[in-house]
Amino acid sequence: MPRTAPAVCSAVHKTDPDRPRRAADGLNLCRGCLKGMHRNLSDLPWLHAEVVTSMPTTRATGSAPVSGSRTPGLPVNLRAGELHSQMGHDLRTIAGWVAKDRGIHLPVDGRVGSVCAWLAKHVNWLAASQYAADVRGVLTELVGRAWAVIDPDRRPMEVGPCVELVDSTPCDGMLWASVLDVGDPRPSKIWCDGCELELTPEQWYRFGRRYEARRRMSA
Ligand SMILES: [Zn+2]
Ligand SMILES: [Zn+2]
Repeated sequence: MPRTAPAVCSAVHKTDPDRPRRAADGLNLCRGCLKGMHRNLSDLPWLHAEVVTSMPTTRATGSAPVSGSRTPGLPVNLRAGELHSQMGHDLRTIAGWVAKDRGIHLPVDGRVGSVCAWLAKHVNWLAASQYAADVRGVLTELVGRAWAVIDPDRRPMEVGPCVELVDSTPCDGMLWASVLDVGDPRPSKIWCDGCELELTPEQWYRFGRRYEARRRMSA
């Protein structure tokens, strides 16, 4: 019988891209990438909403609001507008691959939130398929572009290098924290972009001390 899944993750990794990552059992992706796909699909609906909110004005990074002033130029944020269409297009394309190859119906509702929720149920199938690396790449890129378009104050904050061990090798990912306003309905969290680590602020309180100790040791 031909082997359907290689032992190495087929996705591109930001840090140390030449180092092979062991694929999870039966999948074409490592566990960090699998977790990343789940996280991206749960983040994309509200990131998309933020992108839509950024569309109507030319709210360039660092510039004062232009409302009320007669400014030349278009009253739209072109990058946000473009990304808004790109997100819908890319997610529906991925859903099309799943529907066609699995012989199932596409989600009736083609909105970003509905397509993401639908895709989330097929993550394991995608991760074991020929599309694994492409889908991982597309989702990562959409999330990155969304963060670049929306308010800089709302972007995640870099905490520092991850100190977890993955397959007895130090993880080479980066820890991120979402910094949210009081009253923001989204859950605050700290996560690694290279492994499965994801913590609530309460867990971080305990984990943070271990993290500082390990970083001091490796410094
Ligand atoms: Zn991977
Ligand atoms: Zn990590």
